Amino acid sequence: MLPLAKFFLLFLLGVVVAGEYPKHVKETLRKVAEGVYGVFGVYEQVSYENRGFISNAYFVMTDDGVLVVDALTTYKLGRELVEAVRSLTDKPIRFTVITHYHTDHFYGVGALKEAGSVIIAHEWAFDYVSQPSSWNFYEARKKILKEHMDGTDMVPPDITLTKDLDIHLGKHRFEVRHFCKAHTPGDIVVWIPDKKVLFSGDIVFDGRLPFLGSGNSRGWLKCLDKIMELDPNILLPGHGNPMLTKDKIRDRVLWTRKYIADLRNTIRKMIEEGQDIDYVREHINEAMLEIDPSYAQVPVFFDVNPVNAYYVYFEIENEMLEEEE
Ligand SMILES: [Zn+2]
Repeated sequence: MLPLAKFFLLFLLGVVVAGEYPKHVKETLRKVAEGVYGVFGVYEQVSYENRGFISNAYFVMTDDGVLVVDALTTYKLGRELVEAVRSLTDKPIRFTVITHYHTDHFYGVGALKEAGSVIIAHEWAFDYVSQPSSWNFYEARKKILKEHMDGTDMVPPDITLTKDLDIHLGKHRFEVRHFCKAHTPGDIVVWIPDKKVLFSGDIVFDGRLPFLGSGNSRGWLKCLDKIMELDPNILLPGHGNPMLTKDKIRDRVLWTRKYIADLRNTIRKMIEEGQDIDYVREHINEAMLEIDPSYAQVPVFFDVNPVNAYYVYFEIENEMLEEEE
């Protein structure tokens, strides 16, 4: 093959591969506000091909150092995140706040610690890392990600909170808050009041159903109300695109709220009518589509909605028992 043709072919291959999955986290680095940057994983399940880069991480640069939010899915990706920070500043990485101890947000913590950062999370992180099921999950991840998982360990936080913690760094105050149990028992958000920027973890997504299987749907509604009260200019989610206008944020928060409320009300009605869990799981989709046919257009609605219904059924059953007492 002519050298030029060969070069051209390699170039094309490179574009195709790089176009599908970034080879380095840095390729997705993007400024989202003054001094605030993000790296953005693909919006899909963990696979060997995507190296587990399926979530977002962010960092804020100040005069006195850097604050990072979330640490990605593996030690290697965590290191790439550190390299992304290093491509913009030599200032120390002082703090890393983990929005929740789920694999795709904290497995990279080891790399941040190595870079000198203090790790901050909700106290629930210790429950998570001590559960045997979390280690089963770790092994399962290793099976999928193979060598991409090299160096990854379940590293617990250095500082934990159960409600409020303020970090003062540079000229900014970072308000770390546990508003409620939503996606997990230990969700926290980070709010920068002078920028009106909110890091929301997995509490609000753009255009995807929330997964209600490991948190609390009633708590989630409270969380969304709190977020509406904060009235952010910019909302930076754990997955998917950043939300950069108030209209967009309002629209997505209210949509998430409506979905959870519709699901809860529908299940409650079914329980009051004497239906059991099997009936609820089988009929929840059609009942929800009767309330709002547009749910049919939501990705994975038909698969995830019955799973959500399964968990919320028991939650509401418990709530009804409490009401009787
Ligand atoms: Zn996540």
